Amino acid sequence: MSDSPEVIVRKRSVSSSNSDLIGNINKTLGHKLDPRVMNAMLSVDRANYCQASYPLKDRPESIGYGQTISAPHMHAYALDMLKDQLVEGAKALDVGSGSGYLTACMAHMVGRTGSVVGVEHFPELVELAINNLQHDQPELLESERVKILLGDGRQGHEKDAPYNAIHVGAAAKQIPQPLIDQLKPGGRMVIPVGGSWYQQLFQVDKLANGKIVKKSITDVAFVPLTDVEY
Ligand code: SAH
Repeated sequence: MSDSPEVIVRKRSVSSSNSDLIGNINKTLGHKLDPRVMNAMLSVDRANYCQASYPLKDRPESIGYGQTISAPHMHAYALDMLKDQLVEGAKALDVGSGSGYLTACMAHMVGRTGSVVGVEHFPELVELAINNLQHDQPELLESERVKILLGDGRQGHEKDAPYNAIHVGAAAKQIPQPLIDQLKPGGRMVIPVGGSWYQQLFQVDKLANGKIVKKSITDVAFVPLTDVEY
């Protein structure tokens, strides 16, 4: 994802530790972070998912293959939008899992009885996320609380559906129907929708009666969801 909007964060923080980074995001986000979101982000050290010189700067960083790990405040924002769905025992899907950082944060929020599937279409990034998780949080892989799979995330992952929460980390031209179909009633998807450069971050709720309610939340700038030849 490229730089995310100044409406969300007015001042980019530079931090000396992961906890300092989360504390700074909490001050600059414009609203207080949910304590469960904060705890999840405190449990996953971004420096283990990002090889940049300044992994604790609040900005996106390259993870290779033209892709980026999103800025920490954007991760915080997305987790906050999904906090009521990312509860103990929930099932979640992270489309475009990239570095594996957000997938790990989601896994902390769904707890020991929940699970998160990350879907990524670059085999090298599947390997990167697995290596990062093996180094930082091996128990998430060993317990199968987290799975990172190769595939086209626009198709979701039918086998483990329905999901309480779906996060899409790259921009869609339209909301993929399989992702809507794979949401549980009461579930929520967070997805950037729009053109190649700027999009709207949408919250898509599937109500208990199955009705779909879409709401545009803010302007964002994500890399696009793309096709890859395997
Ligand atoms: N959330 C991740 C990565 C965000 S970048 C992180 O913060 O580390 C967007 C990711 O989406 C990239 O890893 C990119 O390879 C992936 N992606 C793009 N199109 C995709 C598709 N069709 N299916 C699965 N992953 C895709």
